[in-house]
Amino acid sequence: MRLGAHMPIGGGIYKSIERGEGIGCESIQIFTKSNRQWTAKPLKKEDIEKFIETKKKYESKIFPIFAHTSYLINLASPEKETYDKSFNAMLIELERAEALELSYLVYHPGSHLDKKNPKTGSEKGIKRIAKAINELHEKTEGYKVMICLETMAGQGTNIGRKFEDLAQIIKLITDDSRIGVCYDTCHSFAAGYDIRTEKAYNKTFEEFESVIGFDRLIVFHINDSVGELNRRKDRHEHIGKGKIGKAGFKLLLNDSRFKDLGGTLETPKGKELAEDVENLKVLRSLYD
Ligand code: ZN
Ligand code: MN
Ligand code: MN
Repeated sequence: MRLGAHMPIGGGIYKSIERGEGIGCESIQIFTKSNRQWTAKPLKKEDIEKFIETKKKYESKIFPIFAHTSYLINLASPEKETYDKSFNAMLIELERAEALELSYLVYHPGSHLDKKNPKTGSEKGIKRIAKAINELHEKTEGYKVMICLETMAGQGTNIGRKFEDLAQIIKLITDDSRIGVCYDTCHSFAAGYDIRTEKAYNKTFEEFESVIGFDRLIVFHINDSVGELNRRKDRHEHIGKGKIGKAGFKLLLNDSRFKDLGGTLETPKGKELAEDVENLKVLRSLYD
């Protein structure tokens, strides 16, 4: 697997690539703007050029570079104001990713917010997401960037806990050449998909293959889980220190079906990225 980590963009967005290279990443993920704000100053021409130049410089070492959207965006929201804001923010995310020549934009499907009627709430939420993505695709015709729906832990009214949620969204997308999936190991474990033993691992990915299909799978987020299986808790832990444990990651890393895919860490880290260095070392020690 092309292992890497989420990299900060402080001091210039191109620095994310240099940071990744500096700690031995083979792929990285970035936010192209603050992940906790709706708006951002437009990218400057020189920032875009410097980024693309740096990307080219390291293109044999670091690829792909994944963009991840802001956490605020919720295209499943029944509230018009939130939905509209989310739609506009998503358009900006797509524009920025395309300008930076990034092929993939990872996105959390969203929360339908209907606690009283989770079933119909989820169905409506799924339809809203698909409608939004179809409209976004129309507005960005000719773009290369693909939206990758991420598997979720299922906290609150989160859509994407079950593989079926993502499959249903994908089924409703008109231009399905621009929709993919990101499998987050922590989220899906929290959602009830076990990968700790060979038997459980095989069952989980047989299910993924039959419900979504491996042709949709673009990237893994490699995170251990603070919470136990099926607790719906979205809290990432360092590799081997959580409830998944090294055995699960060993199965994943030695699965030849995924050897060409990106696998980026989203585990806690300090400024010096020492934790990423350690987690990458642990992961690489698990190859047979
Ligand atoms: Zn994510
Ligand atoms: Mn993730
Ligand atoms: Mn998470």
